[in-house]
Amino acid sequence: MSNRFWSPIVNELDPYVPGEQPQDQQYIKLNTNESPYPPAPAVAAALASFDCEQLRRYPDPESLELRDALAEYHGLARAQVFVGNGSDEVLAHAFQALLQKSSPILYPDISYSFYPVYCALYRIEYATVPLDAEFRIDVDAYRPGNGGIIIANPNAPTGIALPLAAIRRLLANHRDSVVIIDEAYVDFGAESATSLIEDFDNLLVVQTFSKSRNLAGLRLGAAFGQAPLIEALQRIKNSFNSYPVDSLAGACALASIADEDYFQKCRQRIIASRERLADGLTALDFETLPSNSNFLLASHAGRPAQALYLELKNIGILVRHFNKPRIDNWLRITVGSDAECDRLLEALRQILG
Ligand code: PMP
Repeated sequence: MSNRFWSPIVNELDPYVPGEQPQDQQYIKLNTNESPYPPAPAVAAALASFDCEQLRRYPDPESLELRDALAEYHGLARAQVFVGNGSDEVLAHAFQALLQKSSPILYPDISYSFYPVYCALYRIEYATVPLDAEFRIDVDAYRPGNGGIIIANPNAPTGIALPLAAIRRLLANHRDSVVIIDEAYVDFGAESATSLIEDFDNLLVVQTFSKSRNLAGLRLGAAFGQAPLIEALQRIKNSFNSYPVDSLAGACALASIADEDYFQKCRQRIIASRERLADGLTALDFETLPSNSNFLLASHAGRPAQALYLELKNIGILVRHFNKPRIDNWLRITVGSDAECDRLLEALRQILG
């Protein structure tokens, strides 16, 4: 392929590779941390009653109704809420708006693999801070003088959560740096840092509708923080795409927020299935990390992770394997329905003999 028309930076990019979304056959898909459950019935109703005529017009560029609903849900003001096309887009804007500084930014050596991609895209220097031997984040290992900090809580792909007190300490230790807490998985058992926004002008919390709201296909993410941080995101967004949240996505997101019972029911079911799956894996001689997310990082004493990944794929079960230092002998397994988890355990039982 000729690249003679490319801007120079394109040659340098090492783009993010999302988990497989195979179109060829039906897999039991436990590889991209999607929900096994459908979106809330209220979302289906919102879609069914959506007035197609609305699509003739552009959506509200400021997504005011949705931002107001999220503000009310989290006890914040509209000016403290940003929404975008998936939290990946929200994170991208946050890297450009808040982390493009003269000092390197910091994040854990094992974390969401999109962070180094944004750094390369926006030419942001970074340094990684190692997780400890138990794959935990040590907030006191983060040194001052950085250009910002980003931590996923719970972390991915470990699934391990930091207590709110540790995040508070991190924020207090780095008053002159923006600290972004990526809460993609927070609803599966961690404490949200949104309650700290009042006290810390350096905190940005990022969340998504993809996981605990069963809406990965909708592409909706949000950020919460004091007004000046949100204004920075708005300025980037309005220099990039005026309408990141389309009319359909806006209507579905509003319906999802309104259906609190269903949201609670789904996340509780996933938490229960996670514990059941962890027990099943332990019984098959897997080590699993203590997860507060909708996935488990698991490693088998006797069988290499890469081989297990391939054997499972061969029989129609997809999990995620990362060819990366420290975690290359681990599998990240999304918590599916109990039936899906049982199929996985049965397959592993056969593979392991
Ligand atoms: N943050 C983390 C830690 C994730 O694992 C993901 C999902 N890949 C995202 C953010 C992005 O999710 P989405 O763009 O679907 O909101």
